[in-house]
Amino acid sequence: MTTETWSTIHSVYELSPTTFKKSSRPKEKYYAVKGGDAFYRTRHWKTERILNEARALLLLAKTKIPVPKFIRCGDNDDGTMFLEMSREDGVELSEVGKACHMSGTVGHNYVGECENCKAIAQANAKDFIQTILLPELANLTSDTTGLDGFVIPPAWMLETDTRSKWEPVTFSDPVLIFIHGDLGPSNLLMDPKTLTVKCVIDWENSGYFHPEFQKWEVDMGRYYALYTERNIHLELASSITL
Ligand SMILES: [Zn+2]
Repeated sequence: MTTETWSTIHSVYELSPTTFKKSSRPKEKYYAVKGGDAFYRTRHWKTERILNEARALLLLAKTKIPVPKFIRCGDNDDGTMFLEMSREDGVELSEVGKACHMSGTVGHNYVGECENCKAIAQANAKDFIQTILLPELANLTSDTTGLDGFVIPPAWMLETDTRSKWEPVTFSDPVLIFIHGDLGPSNLLMDPKTLTVKCVIDWENSGYFHPEFQKWEVDMGRYYALYTERNIHLELASSITL
């Protein structure tokens, strides 16, 4: 029973009381939108990234990191791919400051945006990332880039390096750790009452990479700034290219 459906140019989302389903989109949906053809050509791996997230959720289920539970994954009739997972409610960290979650508390707003809630949530997220998320991810190691033979580097470097295929590279030792690949405030779901991290979502760009790839920010402006560090992107790209 689907209770809510919405879409972006890249994905369709279906929410039920207990599940969340994400599907990739077919070519005609991209071309139906102004400028969508450019997105279609430059945003690679439309179905593979869904499969990559499915594999990541199965891997991460063994860790202490709160992630959605994998339910199933497969092909839709129109050639797109879907991933169904458990529904995890919460407020994206990027959205927390748009309303006060502690109205009535001294120093907080009763209406409108609340800088205090935003600051509390960002501090909690930072603590969670440093004390739980990063140590758990650093425990997952590999000698080969990507995940199960497929390599999709972090989202923030793909506008600099637009190649459509990255070959897995194997090193002589397991020097690689598991990287989220899009670790910004839109992918941290917060408990609206406690303003602590409830779930880490959107693992499409995850995989095994050098520790230098594990970039993150809890502030949107600072997160977007990662996309502009072209010299760092080129350096990282060469470190995973034979
Ligand atoms: Zn507040």
